Amino acid sequence: MDGMNVVGDLFGAGKMFLPQVVKSARVMKQAVAHLVPYIEAEKQKLALESGEAAKPKGKIVVATVKGDVHDIGKNIVGVVLQCNNYEVINLGVMVPASKILQVARDEKCDIIGLSGLITPSLEEMAHVAHEMEREGFTIPLLIGGATTSRVHTAVKIAPNYSGTTIYVPDASRSVGVCSNLLSEDLRADYVRTVRADYDKIRSQHQSRQPRAALLTLAAARANALMTDWQAYTPPAPGFIGVKALRDYDLAVIASHIDWAPFFQTWELSGPYPKILQDPLVGEAARNVFAEGQAMLAKIIAERWLSANAVVGLFPANSVGDDIEIYADESRTRVATRFHNLRQQAQRPAGKPNYCLADLVAPKSSGVKDYIGAFAVTSGLGIEARVKEFEAKHDDYNAIMLKALADRLAEAFAEHLHQRVRREFWGYAAGEALDNEALIREEYRGIRPAPGYPACPDHTEKGDLFRLLDASGIGIALTESYAMWPAAAVSGFYFSHPESQYFAVGKIGRDQVEDYARRKGLALPDAERWLAPQLAYDTARPTTV
Ligand code: SAH
Repeated sequence: MDGMNVVGDLFGAGKMFLPQVVKSARVMKQAVAHLVPYIEAEKQKLALESGEAAKPKGKIVVATVKGDVHDIGKNIVGVVLQCNNYEVINLGVMVPASKILQVARDEKCDIIGLSGLITPSLEEMAHVAHEMEREGFTIPLLIGGATTSRVHTAVKIAPNYSGTTIYVPDASRSVGVCSNLLSEDLRADYVRTVRADYDKIRSQHQSRQPRAALLTLAAARANALMTDWQAYTPPAPGFIGVKALRDYDLAVIASHIDWAPFFQTWELSGPYPKILQDPLVGEAARNVFAEGQAMLAKIIAERWLSANAVVGLFPANSVGDDIEIYADESRTRVATRFHNLRQQAQRPAGKPNYCLADLVAPKSSGVKDYIGAFAVTSGLGIEARVKEFEAKHDDYNAIMLKALADRLAEAFAEHLHQRVRREFWGYAAGEALDNEALIREEYRGIRPAPGYPACPDHTEKGDLFRLLDASGIGIALTESYAMWPAAAVSGFYFSHPESQYFAVGKIGRDQVEDYARRKGLALPDAERWLAPQLAYDTARPTTV
């Protein structure tokens, strides 16, 4: 596949951009599939003549770890590596450690690549590294995906494995890393450099001073956002309970798409729409945009996907840092409790230590307040279409479809939120914002999503989904609380005029203990789910 090598080289040299690379892989793969019988015959002839067969540069098994469902980036890496004459075994999503290691052993792979998007996957990756050590593996382990980082890889993953563990920031970098690792000449130096770098990161990490001293939980609570609840009347929603919206009009949803992240998916950087005129990436951006638009038109016209949503609006009051969500206006039965975390870092003078619970009137105030909840998906039906593309060796369109489904899910969340403000909750009936203003979120209220910085605990999606009966509209949760289909968004609605997004940041053991007690969790379980938030080290075992 020499043609593929040329493509890989052009990409490496920055003369070709990712969409073109993935597209040319399709042409090459389809041609190769067609030519395979001839190539095999030719290879055999060559092997007979020269005594050896033409070999790929190396074999790599890639997988999205157990509990996680996102694979656009990982699939892109797979294609890019194939373009560079590596043999790639892509195990797909939600792959347990045992399966990855078995394939790596059976197929005599040279490298294992792990991918994950959500924070619980960080723990799962450390587990895979631990299992590689236990089973005596020595091949390199590559780490990639949205929440992964060089520091996390060095500090939390690499210490579990005596082989080489390397963080790979994006697809364009994967080729360099693999060729260094598999080159007889370069490997030793490269591995030494990476190890020295990660050693340094680890020692800096150990000796680091916390950026700001943590307050005690009690002191953080004493600096909560203060609201004069007696001077404020929370708006009452137009209905109480749950409303499902099925088979939503995809054309309406599509009109709300925020295109900027679409270009990021294809590793083209620049703000939309200016990116279309960019001297460097403009042409590539225009092409992938036109093809995205064309597929979007087909998705809508031929109903490739269907979109469902569920909205819930409920009486609610805060009790400490938790929010009690009541079944009805009698406020006697707690349907579920939404548990929140509070910022614990020392804040600048006059700034509160935020917690989402501060945005809802306390039960003790006697003020009747409300909260909303939602889940949307636009990924129903995607699997069959993706399989069709993959069967035709068409990674480009398989990736394009997933990227568009993700865009539609986010657009659906934005559109539904507007309907909630204008109609269902109705506290902003006269709101008239254009799409750009919606994308900039210039409205009253927020929709924080569990797993994001204001409410970083993914497990809160469990109760959220039960409250909404989200499985009834076709969305499930994995054991790590990732949503399936992957093109899905869920969260809570807050209407208070002072609502804003923030990051909980690092929290102390006192808050983790308190939170574990409120949720009825054993401390080590709470620490596992909150691992990225912990301001202290737990004594969890590492092997090396
Ligand atoms: N227009 C973007 C919107 C997605 S990101 C797109 O199409 O991709 C913005 C969303 O992420 C917010 O609406 C909210 O649901 C979530 N979010 C952002 N910051 C957050 C935070 N600090 N805490 C919780 N959720 C957050």
